[in-house]
Amino acid sequence: MPTITEATIDGFVHCRDPFCEGSEQREVQVKRTQMDYTFHELGGPGSVPGIERSSTHLACADSADEACTVCGKPAEVTDMKRPVYPAMIFDREGRSLDQKFLLRLIKEGKLGGTAPVQDDSRVAALEAELAELKALLIASSQQSQEPRRGPGRPRKNPEPDASEED
Ligand SMILES: [Zn+2]
Repeated sequence: MPTITEATIDGFVHCRDPFCEGSEQREVQVKRTQMDYTFHELGGPGSVPGIERSSTHLACADSADEACTVCGKPAEVTDMKRPVYPAMIFDREGRSLDQKFLLRLIKEGKLGGTAPVQDDSRVAALEAELAELKALLIASSQQSQEPRRGPGRPRKNPEPDASEED
């Protein structure tokens, strides 16, 4: 049996969705469970002292913190503050291109079409367009009953009555 040590520590939760406002880390109480296994517990012969392997499990001390407070998706629990790297690149207007600038560009719609769909109005518009196209296709296929001749070789015999085909 491993030695189990439980402690309540200062930790963080954040939403897993990077586009959600809840993706900023929030300080919460975190329950840390550490399991320590000795060499002997892992099947080693003899009696080598000390811990050979340990694993740590983190969970929210308060179950109310398990979901994102903004969107309700499951929140990620950590015991580390997310690192912030210094911005070394700047755009033409002098704004720093920090680690979040790509997310900002997508949110502002400057990376064309990759922003997540917030409501399904765009989907509904596309579905309406699709239905319209479908109706057009059906109508045009009903109009052209006789098969049209493809852009193949020209006919050898231009007289229509002398030809065997058609
Ligand atoms: Zn969220």
